[in-house]
Amino acid sequence: MDEVRKRALGAYLGLAVGDALGATVEFMTPREIRHQYGMHKEIVGGGWLRLDAGRVTDDTEMSLALGRAILESGGWDAIAAAESFAAWLKTKPVDVGNTCRRGIRRFMADGSLSGPVNEGDGGNGAAMRIMPVVLSALQGEGSLHEQIIAQCHLTHNHTLSDAASVALGEMTRQLILGGSVKDCRNIANELIEKHPKFSFNPYPGRASGFIVDTVQTVLHHFFATDSFESCLIETVNMGEDADTTGAIAGMLAGALYGEDGIPMRWLEKLKREVAEEIRQQVDGLLRLSR
Ligand SMILES: [Mg+2]
Repeated sequence: MDEVRKRALGAYLGLAVGDALGATVEFMTPREIRHQYGMHKEIVGGGWLRLDAGRVTDDTEMSLALGRAILESGGWDAIAAAESFAAWLKTKPVDVGNTCRRGIRRFMADGSLSGPVNEGDGGNGAAMRIMPVVLSALQGEGSLHEQIIAQCHLTHNHTLSDAASVALGEMTRQLILGGSVKDCRNIANELIEKHPKFSFNPYPGRASGFIVDTVQTVLHHFFATDSFESCLIETVNMGEDADTTGAIAGMLAGALYGEDGIPMRWLEKLKREVAEEIRQQVDGLLRLSR
């Protein structure tokens, strides 16, 4: 159990570290990043949101909101999750994606837990916040996949967002339980077989908020690197939606390399209250999963 906990902590803290690292270079091109930072590899804040160093954005905040709902309900509850997102939106977050905002507002207006299928919902905003669902449903593949899709549909109703979120969730689940990179390759291959758009070999080099670009960037670098640090640095230096590619890469790499694999200089920079809530949630969610 101790190893499972270390990898679970690695995944959740890794998500936050990747968010905080990537936010500095969000919306920049790789060329602009090279010009300004050489290689961007320190959590220094700034960026278009003018963040304090170690501050996280919506990727981590929505994950924490979801985790709170799951813990308070003693398991997955779509209404509790939507209410928690609504409460989060009322705090005037530093950043909110348009699709997320629209979905939360829809729930606040009519109580619905899903919008209609929408071509415009192919962003990465649902995939970026699956972490607490994975932890609370760690033992159940079938229920995890159902819960991930229900979670996604609160704001995003799109086949590619659903498929990517399930695949990323299943990779994270297997890694935390002790699975290998090879297991992740198999899951990636299944995803690409069903939806060839996700193919990342050869790597197209786009890292936008479109779920296909996000997944290609994350998986390419996850499979091409051999440490948490190199995976995250390579990923966020692609720029564009770097906080979210960083967050998702951090979740996968953290699940693989564990908490000990995250550079101490990055962990120390994370806002203390965020790191503390993550630690509490990991223990609570793992308890629920048993
Ligand atoms: Mg963000």
